[in-house]
Amino acid sequence: MSITTNLQIIKSTLPEHVTLVAVSKTKPVADLMEAYEVGQRIFGENKIQEMVDKWEQMPKDIEWHMIGHVQTNKVKYMAPFVSLIHGVDSLKLLGEINKQALKNNRVIDCLLQIYIAEEESKFGLDEEELSALLTSPTFKEMKNIRIVGLMGMATFTDNQNQIKKEFTHLKSIFDKLHSKDALQCVSTEICNLKSLSMGMSGDYQLAIACGSTMVRIGSSIFGGR
Ligand SMILES: *Cc1c(COP(=O)(O)O)cnc(C)c1O
Repeated sequence: MSITTNLQIIKSTLPEHVTLVAVSKTKPVADLMEAYEVGQRIFGENKIQEMVDKWEQMPKDIEWHMIGHVQTNKVKYMAPFVSLIHGVDSLKLLGEINKQALKNNRVIDCLLQIYIAEEESKFGLDEEELSALLTSPTFKEMKNIRIVGLMGMATFTDNQNQIKKEFTHLKSIFDKLHSKDALQCVSTEICNLKSLSMGMSGDYQLAIACGSTMVRIGSSIFGGR
């Protein structure tokens, strides 16, 4: 099926409160433009250089989301335009984003990546590291970043129960942050948790059932990579 058809089908099934990030990594600009022509304005990339190249070539009303692991030394290339960085998992990286955002006279929105999978390879913070980060004095000084939510990736498995368990765990961390004292010491300016980014092509319906507000879908829109 065409990108247009795939996109229309997926969009018709998403609840209104769920944001669709069209994951376009490795795909040519022509494919992204087809999605753009049918109204898609949020694209997700996992390599900074590739995202910069596409940003240069494409219309400027697109929101670019960085969904991959970010190397500190590359933040400067996307700082002028990136609209959301999903995979932030250290104070050091946050510090660099803050510095580059300041240079560009911007505030950059970030999601903190939480480790929920049972795999060694997935990046992210555990609950303890998350609360250490949010309560650290260094973090509170950062005026050019805003934490707008959490992101997580489930284990790559066919076991739906396992995936459900992991998504539910992430949702519970998200809810706890809202209710608890966890955030009392953090100003709402730098920390306003509204987005929960979880779910990809294979598991986004389950993710939404578990409370996701943002899904990152690639292959179901653009085909395999
Ligand atoms: C590639 C990628 C996706 C999209 O994966 P699909 O299975 O193609 O939908 C989502 N999130 C992250 C972090 C990715 O790297």
